[in-house]
Amino acid sequence: MEAFGFLKDQRSFFESGQTRGYAFRKQQLLALKKVIVANEKAINSALSSDLKKTPEECWVTETGLLIQELNHLISHLREWMRPEPVETNLLNLPSSSYLLPSPKGVVLIIGPWNFPLQLLLIPVAGAIAAGNCVVMKPSEFAPATAAVVEQIMSAVFPSNYVKLIQGDGAELVPAMMKEFRFDHIFYTGSIPVGRSIYMEAAKELIPVTLELGGKDPCVVESDANIKVAARRIALGKLTNSGQMCVCPDYLLVHTDVKEELISQLIIAIEKFYTSDPSAAYGYGKIINEKRFDKLVSYLSQGRLVYGGKYDRSSLFVGPALLEDVSLDAAIMKEEIFGPILPIFSFRTTEEAMTIIRKNPNPLSFYLFTSNRETEKEWLERVQFGAGCINNTAWQFSNHHLPFGGVGQSGIGAYHGRQTFDVFTHKKSIMKTPTWFDPAIKYPPLKGKLGILKFFVR
Ligand code: NAD
Repeated sequence: MEAFGFLKDQRSFFESGQTRGYAFRKQQLLALKKVIVANEKAINSALSSDLKKTPEECWVTETGLLIQELNHLISHLREWMRPEPVETNLLNLPSSSYLLPSPKGVVLIIGPWNFPLQLLLIPVAGAIAAGNCVVMKPSEFAPATAAVVEQIMSAVFPSNYVKLIQGDGAELVPAMMKEFRFDHIFYTGSIPVGRSIYMEAAKELIPVTLELGGKDPCVVESDANIKVAARRIALGKLTNSGQMCVCPDYLLVHTDVKEELISQLIIAIEKFYTSDPSAAYGYGKIINEKRFDKLVSYLSQGRLVYGGKYDRSSLFVGPALLEDVSLDAAIMKEEIFGPILPIFSFRTTEEAMTIIRKNPNPLSFYLFTSNRETEKEWLERVQFGAGCINNTAWQFSNHHLPFGGVGQSGIGAYHGRQTFDVFTHKKSIMKTPTWFDPAIKYPPLKGKLGILKFFVR
């Protein structure tokens, strides 16, 4: 089928070796950075059209993060491309050993709609830095951003090197994978789609990175600074109207501070977005009717203690705090992905753990406490991908922290050095001189047990 003819061209271009050199890779990263900076306004307007993001938010959560990663890749590229010497064991001396970073080949990168720029382009930057050819697939649910990104990428890169394809992922991706064996698939999105990609990839033993979602708990202990906790929880929950994989999904608050926390949350929400968030600067919109209807259905699955306003014509769902939510309700079985916060209280860690265990392996975990022992206990007990103490969501923006899930919330990680490593295969090499060739390793081995025991131990 000729529909994906560019894939063969990408394979040929990769095999030509042109993507491997330092100068080439650096030039591409600089070109990408330049075109992103030059198109900041077009990007902002697309993100505003898709998700009502403000220029400030676009910079902090999209373009700025991408530029930060690009700068980091550019400044460390030469160092990370170098062979990395490792030790050689006694048995193999005087050989020397090293790891040789090499690109994986032609990689597929699939992005979601919620941060449609950086969640697609940070992995693309990593793949370019690592010397690969790239096929990239933006989400069809953020069409304005997908269009700008396509325009930007096609202006800078030929399609036999970096190619953006548009359309329904459920049709396009399996069709492409039937025709072509990618050397790596990097996917960001929901758990069910991640699972189906993993299954397709397994048929050809294609390595995958799966950046998935989950229900991220946020625990507030009785010794926490409640005012600060409330501000940081409200910000994490309401950025992008809660359509963020790292936002606190539900709250577990110590009974002694529950009422105070709820009052402070309301103060924080109204300070950020006024008492009418539908008209507030910086309060986003829900991506589409399907997600809007799902979120509205959650609002009746508990007792509303604050907010809960919505308007279908503008895809607005206001901040909402819910209590008395059943653990069997859909809202506690699915990732909420919206500005609705169920609140549960607990007296003992075990009580809170019982709730967390219902949705194990969250992508993120947040804890508010001022006690180091409490902190240690929680960090040991909950299995999660990444998290914060006394904060929410900002771990994502520190490129020195690898970002990824565990178990159900994903496989692999990226950001910073990992963004390069994830698209790199490190060949393990041993180099042995020929001037020394002792008989000990050669047959017959009879009578050499003593000396072999000395060298292999
Ligand atoms: P989604 O899984 O519906 O779509 C993501 C991408 O997959 C889109 O480009 C889509 O076209 C494509 N796709 C759809 N079906 C496919 C199939 N069968 N085969 C291959 N590709 C297919 O996800 P979404 O709704 O865009 O994003 C929301 C989810 O993503 C949430 O669960 C959220 O937690 C998660 N997420 C995770 C991260 C992270 O970094 N871990 C970041 C953002 C979002």
